[in-house]
Amino acid sequence: MGKDIRVRFAPSPTGYLHLGGARTALYNWLWARQHGGQLVLRIEDTDRERSTEENTRIVLDSMRWLGLDWDEGPEVGGPHGPYFQMERLDVYREHTERLVASGHAYRCYCTKEELAAAREAQKKAGQPFFRYPGTCRERADEPDLPFVVRLRAPSEGSVGWDDLVKGRLDYPNSELQDVVLVRSDGVPLYNLGAVVDDVTMGITLVARGDDHMVNTPIQILLYRALGAGVPRFAHMPMILGPDGQKLSKRHAAVAVLDYRDKGYLPDGVVNYLARLGWSHGDQEIFSRDELIAKFDWEHVGKAGAKYDAKKFESVQAEHLRMLPDADLAREALPFLAEKGIDVPAGDRRLVAAMPYVKPRATTLRDVAFAVEYFLVDEPAIEDKGKRKFLVPDKAAVLRDLREAIAPVEPFDVAHLEPRVNAWMEERGLTFKDYAQSARVALTGRTASPGLLEVMEVLGRERTLERLERGAHIAEGG
Ligand code: GLU
Repeated sequence: MGKDIRVRFAPSPTGYLHLGGARTALYNWLWARQHGGQLVLRIEDTDRERSTEENTRIVLDSMRWLGLDWDEGPEVGGPHGPYFQMERLDVYREHTERLVASGHAYRCYCTKEELAAAREAQKKAGQPFFRYPGTCRERADEPDLPFVVRLRAPSEGSVGWDDLVKGRLDYPNSELQDVVLVRSDGVPLYNLGAVVDDVTMGITLVARGDDHMVNTPIQILLYRALGAGVPRFAHMPMILGPDGQKLSKRHAAVAVLDYRDKGYLPDGVVNYLARLGWSHGDQEIFSRDELIAKFDWEHVGKAGAKYDAKKFESVQAEHLRMLPDADLAREALPFLAEKGIDVPAGDRRLVAAMPYVKPRATTLRDVAFAVEYFLVDEPAIEDKGKRKFLVPDKAAVLRDLREAIAPVEPFDVAHLEPRVNAWMEERGLTFKDYAQSARVALTGRTASPGLLEVMEVLGRERTLERLERGAHIAEGG
């Protein structure tokens, strides 16, 4: 079936790409990649008031950052374009004419005032919701007046489908409305635009959020009316906040690019989103290739999945630790640049520090923070550490330590350790007598990786310089 798998992601650029949309894109992408099929990216920009180019840009940037590439769509083209709905109005017009000609749709000339009056009358009669009264259903004339196009919805029978996530679903047609398919300005509404595009783009599986399930019966009627094959459907449950409501800004950062800016790795986000609503036994951590190999619709949950910030952090941290040191160092560069730290090419300190900062870091931002003092000429010294540990009577011990380690060669943990131990013994010192003072002198902070590790990464010259500077500050300098 590989080549027959054509899925699509069809965002409306009325906002940024949020976690829910990204997960929809991801599941489609995983399915396409698993089967050697194609992912089409289509921009549903028919809501002209709310769609912006900037939002489209954000959607594309978010997808690219996540590593979800598309086979057809904006910036890559393809044989079924254009991929922006506002550039496809001719295609919709042609299909709408067919629907009207075959009687599956009709022109409705009712004015706003007439509809408002009908609404009022229905309300008075105690009808729970408005139903278009069918005024223009059987109208034969074609007056030269503005019109919308409505679906001629059947009132008997039912429409159903075997949903890959939800199982068998059936909806009675008596619940359907003669919904508007095309507005009076010729721009289609969502149902018509999506179906015409899914037909003309050869989509074989429609996978989207279950908030669209109410539209699916209407869409199935439209596929049939157009004489097109009905694709399969997979409706995935919403992502929920901790209070069980649909995840929103109130609960968490929801824009994909916020996670990029927080210093999350795309693989961490992809892993967390994949697991949010899908499971493979009790496995939590997946590489991208594993997800492609293992993803299936059977194990997508039927009910909403709760967003859990702590879990997200731990998955992210795991991916950070999985990254080879050199790659992690490279990924951290933009976050260092943000702090005004440009690491000279070939500088070994950054990569050398990775094994020591990795275990404690969650994000690239944490990594940048943790390595900052290795890379600057003179680390800023925290006030508290200075007041407590760089005090006059510590100056001598810092200078003494400096002298003791100066000749160690090579200047690494294995060689520093016996020398420092011997020095402590000779002087009758314990770790407590000098370690925090040395740490503040070397890093500017009261918490850091092991002292000897810090010395090794800093190298001899900087270590000696900083111990002297610490002694000088301790003396009140
Ligand atoms: N433009 C719709 C949305 O963003 C797409 C729905 C669909 O996938 O059919 O919700």
